[in-house]
Amino acid sequence: MKVTFLGTGTSQGIPIIGSNHPVCLSEDSKDKRLRVSVLIDYEGFTYLIDCGPDFRQQMLNSGCEKIDAILFTHEHSDHVNGLDDIRPFYYKQGDIPLYAHKRVLKSLKKRFDYIFKTKNKYPGTPSVLANRIKNKPFVINNIEVLPINGKHMELQVFGFRFNDFAYLTDMKTVKEKEIKKLKGVKVLVVNALRIETHYSHFNLEEALNFIEKVNPERAYLTHISHMLGFHKDVSKVLPNNVYLAYDNLQITI
Ligand SMILES: [Zn+2]
Ligand SMILES: [Zn+2]
Repeated sequence: MKVTFLGTGTSQGIPIIGSNHPVCLSEDSKDKRLRVSVLIDYEGFTYLIDCGPDFRQQMLNSGCEKIDAILFTHEHSDHVNGLDDIRPFYYKQGDIPLYAHKRVLKSLKKRFDYIFKTKNKYPGTPSVLANRIKNKPFVINNIEVLPINGKHMELQVFGFRFNDFAYLTDMKTVKEKEIKKLKGVKVLVVNALRIETHYSHFNLEEALNFIEKVNPERAYLTHISHMLGFHKDVSKVLPNNVYLAYDNLQITI
């Protein structure tokens, strides 16, 4: 399995528009972060988690030619706003399968009503196959996906486990019984916003505590704000098996 980090930034991305914060002004490419998303390549199939506003650029950067499914963690704009740009994939492949909680599908239908229309569609609009998921394992083509349920302040969010790999973002609280589903995972990706605590996201300390509980072989931090600091500085203070993810990083599991 190959995982590509398409984006590792929090909702505004880094740099923030018009910001003079030193991290936003950094020339290190690892300090430039598009909105969070990962691409999973597994036995000839390609799965995308979230489809945010930087989706088009991320597809160009990664050279991705085919998407077999898009899984959504939740409906916030930084995770869904690129959906219109699935058009090139739709033209080649036909309806694109989506997997999401019913609440997220409802939100997508409202935001992108023209995509979900079945009659009198405007020519050129893409179509999708919406699959509602619950907090139960489901199969896509060749792989079983295990959802991990968590809370983003009050909002329900899904993380996903694919075999030895798990991806969780926008988490603030995860119950013990959900953490148990991560047992034995080799690579864990989890959100770490900044040093200070935040009402709806793990800060660095909470993310590291969570990693310690799950105890994967290695872990990567994502959904990063400029307030976490420079990539090279933060990387130095992390435990040995924990890494800051950065855009275009590829890992093999
Ligand atoms: Zn987010
Ligand atoms: Zn969110």
